[in-house]
Amino acid sequence: MKNLEFLKELNPAQAEAVRTIFGPLLVIAGAGSGKTKTIICRMAYLVAHGVPPEKILLLTFTRKAGKEMIERAGALLKMDCNKIMGGTFHSLCQYMLRFYGYLLGYKPNFTILDRSDSEDLINLLRNSLGLAERKKRFPKKDTLASIYSKMINQQKTLEEILSHEYPQFLDHYYEIERLFIEYVNYKKEHQLMDYDDLLLNWLEVLKNFPEVRKEIGKKFEFIMVDEYQDTNFLQGEIIKYMGETHKNVMVVGDDSQSIYGFRGAYFRNIFEFPKLFPDTKIIKLEQNYRSTQSILDLANVIISNSKIKYTKTLFTLKKGGRKPVLFKAKDETESSKFVADKVLEFRENGIKLSQMAVLFRSAYHSFDLEVELTKRGIPFVKYGGLKLLESAHMKDFLSLLRIISNPQDFISWHRVLLLLEGIGPKSTEKIISSLKQNLLNIDYTLEKLIFQFPQKEFKELVILLKELWKNKKSLSEILISVWDFYKPIFERIYYEDYHKREKDIEGVIALSEKYNLLEDFLTDLILEPIEVTDIEKPAKDEDCLTLSTVHSAKGLEWHTVFIISLIEGRFPSAYSIHNDEELEEERRLFYVAVTRARENLFLIAPMTIYIPGEGKTLAKLSRFIKEVPPSLLEFYKEEEFKEKELDNGKKFKVGDIVKHPHFGIGEVREILSSEKIRVFFEEKGNTLLNLKYTNLEKLIM
Ligand code: ATP
Ligand code: MG
Repeated sequence: MKNLEFLKELNPAQAEAVRTIFGPLLVIAGAGSGKTKTIICRMAYLVAHGVPPEKILLLTFTRKAGKEMIERAGALLKMDCNKIMGGTFHSLCQYMLRFYGYLLGYKPNFTILDRSDSEDLINLLRNSLGLAERKKRFPKKDTLASIYSKMINQQKTLEEILSHEYPQFLDHYYEIERLFIEYVNYKKEHQLMDYDDLLLNWLEVLKNFPEVRKEIGKKFEFIMVDEYQDTNFLQGEIIKYMGETHKNVMVVGDDSQSIYGFRGAYFRNIFEFPKLFPDTKIIKLEQNYRSTQSILDLANVIISNSKIKYTKTLFTLKKGGRKPVLFKAKDETESSKFVADKVLEFRENGIKLSQMAVLFRSAYHSFDLEVELTKRGIPFVKYGGLKLLESAHMKDFLSLLRIISNPQDFISWHRVLLLLEGIGPKSTEKIISSLKQNLLNIDYTLEKLIFQFPQKEFKELVILLKELWKNKKSLSEILISVWDFYKPIFERIYYEDYHKREKDIEGVIALSEKYNLLEDFLTDLILEPIEVTDIEKPAKDEDCLTLSTVHSAKGLEWHTVFIISLIEGRFPSAYSIHNDEELEEERRLFYVAVTRARENLFLIAPMTIYIPGEGKTLAKLSRFIKEVPPSLLEFYKEEEFKEKELDNGKKFKVGDIVKHPHFGIGEVREILSSEKIRVFFEEKGNTLLNLKYTNLEKLIM
């Protein structure tokens, strides 16, 4: 038996959850109460008791989170637990469908459509049905994709979704219905699955094939799910069937942190768990280990002001602590300066940049701050917001890879053909319809098409594809040939910023190193879209500040957290303000943001903002801040902030001997500006100090 020392660190409720290894288990608890830690210890506990790691399935919200948890479980046992199968629901479903999809008529190399691919396909079908031109006020492609996705995820009929959320389109009921039937058929015929199909099809297999359920039950004897509050009905059903034979299913979550409603998650899903598994044992964790009492007080107010009653009573032993600081900045410039100043101040006092984060509702809210940080040389990484895959050049690049993997992916054909010089929409249609008529003989058909379309780039494309289909090449060979093919095309169409795009593609090629198969690489890219930051990462060990949307900060924690742009229309966001349900979700989102902080929380609101076209506009403090009793906040005075700025005379000169509260005695070596000086300390060596924040005493002049 392995060393189980780690159990001693747990409180009784956590330990009980860890030791309950058989039967259904629901752990429901507030932020920072150790839910994730409990899952990690439980995995270690199972392995320590002889459960083979590959029999454990861990489902998390991002693959990265899963990987980290598995590593932490391994660290507790001092052994490798990497055989634990970790992933997201979508990655699990695609993995299972590669094996079992044939039961529904899918080949193992089916292609996954991301959201914008689905929209493009819907658009294509809409045009081919003639709905776009003839029908005025017919929904747009993104609205259609949302309606479809809601039907699937909430398992509702078209009529229910339309009458509840889009009554203005009820007149088009029959056309929309026809379009969706076409959409479903098209995907099936062409070996395509959108995100929702991954869940839907895997559930379909589980529902209809009891022998698969048995096999899966044997394969994964223990199932654990973190962040269960962000799952939906379909995911609940999947878990029900996958755990049917043994019922060893543990889920953990916090109803008040459900923030993915817009993607079809349903915050009450967590309460339905005992219905999926009768005799579920329910454990509540009530002690918060993350935040100080002052931060929790604020979090509790936010949640208790909600119309929905969440299951929460949290306490912490970290009594007191600095009250959350509210700073009403004059404008965004001042807000950014404030954050940058404070970040430097904390760093001077020994808090690493990586222990601090700036959070915001939408990715664009940090633009001003990013400029300020860059100006001051503060390194940062940003999470959330635009994914690299959403950019045109990445889509172009991936489309060709997808054709290589699945020649019947005609949406990708569309994209690629339209890039070629001399091939316009009409030629594209002609080529695609020829290919469709000769599905079994695509190679040969292409070769014949060269006579009809002798354009150089089309010819090159055909040669490239024939070569790659015929000879088994390694992934890196494929990527390099594809990139060689694209370079001149990209130079032509993206001439304005070709080099930046070139860097992205090369970064992505570098990421492919750890894959062998093109299919695996594509699947990972589409299911877990890489962030721009993944390939623009600062040097490996560089200490840097985190900038993140609140959505991407889920589950994480920092010593000091800044929440910026706390004004109406930004947080809560403008489009949520008129809808009670969405406003509730904004509230939960704010609760998530607040509960990321361990020691310090800064709430910042710029009181004027610049709106393009309107100029400087007055902003209103966020309703979530207004409702907090003033006694729970510390108000940062604007004057205080300004005075500090003025208070920096040229006090020091080279050669002065000085004393620093942490670094001890040193000698001034260089004066860089009225604020910045370089001091040599015995232990730390040359150190750059900002006088604004440093309590530096002059000893000898
Ligand atoms: P969230 O709802 O934000 O996902 P969580 O409930 O998953 O939070 P964890 O991230 O597991 O909480 O834990 C929060 C912090 O509390 C972590 O730093 C963790 O190490 C610490 N912690 C959890 N349980 C204990 C414990 N029994 N003793 C000491 N520290 C603990
Ligand atoms: Mg967690």
